Amino acid sequence: GFTPLLETRIGGNRIWIKQEQLFPTGSYKDRGASVLISRAVELGIRKVVEDSSGNAGAAIAAYAALAGIECEIFVPEATAPAKLAQIELYGAALHKVPGSREDTARAVLVAAETEFYASHSWSPFFFYGTKTYAYEIWEQLGFNTPDVLIIPTGNGTLLIGAYLGFQDLLSQNLISALPRIIAVQSENCAPLHKMWADRLEQLPPRQPEKTIAEGIAIAEPIRGRQIVDAVRKTEGAFVTVSEREILTALVEMGRNGWFMEPTSAAAFAGLEKCSIDERETVVVPITGHGLKSTDKLLSLL
Ligand SMILES: *Cc1c(COP(=O)(O)O)cnc(C)c1O
Repeated sequence: GFTPLLETRIGGNRIWIKQEQLFPTGSYKDRGASVLISRAVELGIRKVVEDSSGNAGAAIAAYAALAGIECEIFVPEATAPAKLAQIELYGAALHKVPGSREDTARAVLVAAETEFYASHSWSPFFFYGTKTYAYEIWEQLGFNTPDVLIIPTGNGTLLIGAYLGFQDLLSQNLISALPRIIAVQSENCAPLHKMWADRLEQLPPRQPEKTIAEGIAIAEPIRGRQIVDAVRKTEGAFVTVSEREILTALVEMGRNGWFMEPTSAAAFAGLEKCSIDERETVVVPITGHGLKSTDKLLSLL
C-alpha cells in the first residue's frame, strides 16, 4: 500500500492523482488480494479459484504464489494477453472461457463447488483490503477528508472499499463528512448508472456491449444495490463516458506524462463531466498500469 498521492493540474482542474498502477501487479487489486489471501492462509486453505477480467486474477495469483498456495484463474477468452502472461508467470493454472464475462463467472462457480472461491466481488475480505484506499488518502491529505472521489466502477471493488473506509473514519469521529463519490461507467455498459438515474430497485435487463474500458465492463454487478446505496449516501452521482471520451482522456493523460490502461482513463473522462467547485479537493486514481494493455493501446492508436 501507500501509493503516492500527487497534486497536479489536468486541463482546467486541480486534482490529486492516487498512483494505484504502482502496486506490484500494476493495479489496486493488490489491496484486496493481500487481505483475502492472508485470510485464506489463516483458515488453512491450500488452493483457491477466482474469475476475473484480468487484474483481480493477476493480483490473486501473485499473492497466492507468495503465500505458497495453489491457484486457478478463470478469464474471458478476450482478456488482454499481457494480463494472461502475468497470471501464468505467477504460476496459476489459467482457464480461458469462451463468451462473455458472465460465462466466465458461471464457469468458476462449478470449480467453487469444491474449492475456496477467492472472489473479489463476493468475498468481504477483498473489500476490507480496498478500504485502505480511504485510510491512505486521509493520512496523505494531512488527516483530512477530500471533497470528491472519482472512481471507475463495474463491480465496485474500489468504490465499496473507499466507502467503507471513510465510514470507519466517520464513525470514529476522525472526519466530519464523507467525500462525495462520483462513480464512472462506460456508456456502453452502464447498468448502475441506469439503476441510479431511473431509481430502479433492481439491475436493468442486461445489454452486453463492448467497451475499451474492459475492467469495468460488468453487465451484472452482484453488489449493484450496495454500490448505488453507497453513492447516494455520500450525495455523489454516476456519470457515463463514451468510447471517444475515454480515448481522448487516455491520450490527454499521456500528453501530461501519465500512462494507464483504458479502464483507468474512464475516470479522467468522467472528471470532465462532474460539477466540481474550484476549491474542492478531488482525488482520481490511476487504477491500472498502461503496460498491462500495450497491445490494445497499439490497436487504438
Ligand atoms: C478492477 C478495476 C477497476 C474497477 O472495477 P470494479 O469492477 O468496480 O471493481 C477499475 N480499473 C481497473 C484497471 C481495474 O482493474
